Amino acid sequence: PAAMRESLITYPRVTWADIGGLEHVKSRLQDLVEKPLRHPEVFERIGLSSNLGVLLYGPPGTGKTLLAQAIARESGVNFLPIQGPELFSQWLGESEESVRHIFDVARRAAPCIVFFDQLDAVVPQRSDLEHEGTRAPQRVVNQLLAELDGMESRSQVIVIGATNRMSMVDPAALRPGRFGVHLHVGPPEEAGRSEILRIHLAGAALGDGLTLDEVIAHLVPRTTGLTGADLAFLVQNAKLAALDLDQASPDPRLDIATFDAVLAETARTA
Ligand code: ATP
Repeated sequence: PAAMRESLITYPRVTWADIGGLEHVKSRLQDLVEKPLRHPEVFERIGLSSNLGVLLYGPPGTGKTLLAQAIARESGVNFLPIQGPELFSQWLGESEESVRHIFDVARRAAPCIVFFDQLDAVVPQRSDLEHEGTRAPQRVVNQLLAELDGMESRSQVIVIGATNRMSMVDPAALRPGRFGVHLHVGPPEEAGRSEILRIHLAGAALGDGLTLDEVIAHLVPRTTGLTGADLAFLVQNAKLAALDLDQASPDPRLDIATFDAVLAETARTA
């Protein structure tokens, strides 16, 4: 029904420009997902299947969800996000039925990207199933694999999964034709951190005479090992700190000392 379809489908606003670093992953997604979705007739003509699934794997906060949102937005297709554990909660009803329902909705909303976040919760290793009992019943796993296998390339539905723990995903789900393309999404190197900081600092009010380039040059060597989510949090905290330090001012500005204070605080609590 239309009401159900509307409740699941979303329209992300994230673009490639909102994602710092990850050049390699972005360009692979453009080749694998965006081109076939934009030019289905070309792929059909040369007999290339656009029936594919992609797994994004890597630590929390590195941009996996952003990438999935951006690929949908930039390809101009519908986006159907599923939080892995939600599949087993009440709102979608019987889990097995939910899996069927999700793919029904996706086919009707095609072209569409279905995004399974925390895929390890949906299709855990078999040994885990035994330990956790009822969390992810085998029939749900089987239903998902059956949906993936039954998908026709011309259906214009592409599945993308994300996980922090690839080793916890049932290998059966990782085979070609299922979530068969594996793209690593890691913490940013220097250039990536610089881009991410530039994105999150856009429009921020800086102290007198201080430039954005100076702030970034100061922060990049001091943020080794931080993820995109950590960097976003750092900028938010710096803005809050500027407010606190300068409550009387109607116009709080960020300067190097504010960032250093926040970094020192982060190091202390880490
Ligand atoms: P999880 O595995 O915990 O779901 P994730 O890898 O999906 O994490 P996201 O949800 O995409 O991470 O990122 C969380 C937030 O961190 C984003 O909303 C964004 O503010 C920031 N962020 C993470 N990575 C990047 C990036 N590469 N560029 C810009 N912002 C980023």
